[in-house]
Amino acid sequence: MAASTIRLRVAVIGSGIAGLAAARVLREKHDVTVYERGEPSVATGGQGIANFPNSTHILESIGFDYRCAGSVELGGWHSVDKNGTAVFSSDYDMRERYGAPLVSHMRVDFRTELLRLATAPAEDLGLDASAVPAITVWNNGAVDLDPEGGKVTLDDGSIVEADVIIVADGIHSRLRNKILEEPVNAQKTGMTCCRVAVSAAQVEAALGKLPQWWQDQRDRGKGVIQLIEALDGTSRLTVTYPLRNLSWMNMAWVFPTQQEKKATTESWNADGDKEEILKIYDDFDEDLKTMLRVADQVKLWELQDLEPLPTWTSGRAILIGDAAHAMTPLQGQGSNMAIEDADGLRLLTQPGVTRDSVPEILQKISSVRRPRATRVLENTRISTKISSAADRYARFDDNCTYTGIFAILQQQQVTTA
Ligand SMILES: Cc1cc2nc3c(=O)[nH]c(=O)nc-3n(C[C@H](O)[C@H](O)[C@H](O)COP(=O)(O)OP(=O)(O)OC[C@H]3O[C@@H](n4cnc5c(N)ncnc54)[C@H](O)[C@@H]3O)c2cc1C
Repeated sequence: MAASTIRLRVAVIGSGIAGLAAARVLREKHDVTVYERGEPSVATGGQGIANFPNSTHILESIGFDYRCAGSVELGGWHSVDKNGTAVFSSDYDMRERYGAPLVSHMRVDFRTELLRLATAPAEDLGLDASAVPAITVWNNGAVDLDPEGGKVTLDDGSIVEADVIIVADGIHSRLRNKILEEPVNAQKTGMTCCRVAVSAAQVEAALGKLPQWWQDQRDRGKGVIQLIEALDGTSRLTVTYPLRNLSWMNMAWVFPTQQEKKATTESWNADGDKEEILKIYDDFDEDLKTMLRVADQVKLWELQDLEPLPTWTSGRAILIGDAAHAMTPLQGQGSNMAIEDADGLRLLTQPGVTRDSVPEILQKISSVRRPRATRVLENTRISTKISSAADRYARFDDNCTYTGIFAILQQQQVTTA
């Protein structure tokens, strides 16, 4: 008879993408509590996020409902120069090629759907009754961690004991350096990203109609990632993709940092100055600039990443998400890595798991996830230097073809047999 899994007490620190996806996976077998330092609406932001086939096959396996998130299926991408002249175009059926789609959604809609999957009653999600909803604790973040003892100290001074501690507190993780022997902090990359999302109604009011490239996507009911590159050695580019059933457009304006500011380093939600950005993109397409002019919110973020960490685990604690492997959005893989991490935690839901076996299982998860995240970080770092479409697609292919922790472990077994 197969050994059963005992119910473990799991503390998840952070209710971002990584924390909520982890809570959804682990609630299947364990008692999960998510501790968040902010309000329930924290970390939502109005802008977009794209999920590639390497994470959508996992999202589908946990019941992610694209309709709830207003997700848009994307066919591939088009590259154009700053005047709108086509440079490269790829459009294929991602499901046929990778077994899962490429989709985009508003960040707030994406996170809301993950929160539902983590906390809705089991019967609403078609789960076994034993998959009790994760409990959420808001406005009470973690200030300290004892990984060996399985203890987390919260803002209000209380101490929580857990068998497993999932540290998912983002790029500026407060707990990361309790797991590492030497402190490691995020570093700037010299690039800044300005993010806006504009509605079709706002753009139609300003331009009289939608730009043809947006209208084309609406007409066929399928989106595309559009890269508008300066291609003049100035490293300026704009990325657009549709959101909310193609009724919104996400725009990311990426350029070399002009002036370092504290606010744009510490938060994704620092306000940007439209006039400053418009000046940087003075020679870009007029319609595109009008879309920036009419946007309600302009958010600036100095792009940062993390050097690969020497370890992700200590005792009963494991780092996941940006706390473990923050990378810039230049390959759009940050949240995808967080979803892959959550899939890795499935090793904790297997028969025979005990309280004593937790540290060893966390190390096994890390042994698969750490090299994978490092490779995607390398693909992302190199993407600023990529000059040929063929190279760009080779990196894309490598990112998209992750099959999940069980498949990787099986491959490793075959190789060593
Ligand atoms: C401009 C930009 C565009 C991006 N575009 C994409 C994209 O298209 N596709 C993609 O895959 N990725 C993208 N990313 C990356 C992606 O957003 C991140 O990788 C992802 O949000 C990481 O999720 P996370 O849960 O690890 O961290 P976060 O989403 O940052 O969540 C961390 C959570 O922890 C909470 N927290 C922090 N400290 C504590 C504490 N001490 N105690 C309790 N709670 C705490 C925070 O309040 C927050 O809720 C983009 C990033 C940027 C900056």
